[in-house]
Amino acid sequence: MELELLYEGKAKKVYQSDTNVNHLILSYKNDATAFNGEKKAQFYGKGRLNNEISSLLFKALEDKGIQSHFIKRLDSSTQIVQKTDIIPLEVIIRNIATGSITKRLGIAEKTLFEPALAELFYKDDSLGDPLINDEHAMYLTGITMEELNGIKEEARKINQALMEIFASIGVRLVDFKLEFGRNRAGKILLSDEVSPDTCRLWDARTNEKLDKDVFRQGTGDLISVYEEILNRLEAKL
Ligand code: UDP
Repeated sequence: MELELLYEGKAKKVYQSDTNVNHLILSYKNDATAFNGEKKAQFYGKGRLNNEISSLLFKALEDKGIQSHFIKRLDSSTQIVQKTDIIPLEVIIRNIATGSITKRLGIAEKTLFEPALAELFYKDDSLGDPLINDEHAMYLTGITMEELNGIKEEARKINQALMEIFASIGVRLVDFKLEFGRNRAGKILLSDEVSPDTCRLWDARTNEKLDKDVFRQGTGDLISVYEEILNRLEAKL
């Protein structure tokens, strides 16, 4: 039986599970996009790599007491997750300055943020995902101040946990994007994905970029750096 396609995004397709109404099947695509979809390419194997990396990271987070929508990996490019209604916010956590913040605020590349800096962007392609403040976030998404504070607190815990995981494989977690959703019971859960598409990862020794920046900047081979991350995680987790 064909699964019902609920939504197709830039990096994943979302299907309704045919065995549980509260479950979704996420299918990771081989497409890569950058600059709000202006730069596009296909990389054979990217879907599998991100599905495997994201599955390993969600499991490792769970071992550290952080719940997410992840249930289990199904096959090479799909995983089963709890159905959540995504809150249209991109929660960005930054440990080291690079990317948009250096241009927007004139902060020098590689400045360390201690404590980590949290930013909110409104998830809306037609608006180019603008940076917003807490009041905008509450107004635009209907979440309460308590829920927003809970999301930020959770994002900081996730940062601590991911920093430990990546440090154990010789990688610096520079910055990353998280999305949260509300499950059937009303609980807000980490959703979407955690992968080299959504995290900036630098080799701890050489500062080599091991993430989507190699595609954004055209400086390296996306598949080989994603494979490097997967190999190191598999050896450790
Ligand atoms: N990011 C993402 N999706 C987006 C925007 C950003 O996954 O739509 C991630 C990005 O990979 C990086 C972090 O969030 O790890 C911070 O991105 P930044 O705001 O610096 O944006 P960029 O410079 O990539 O435009």
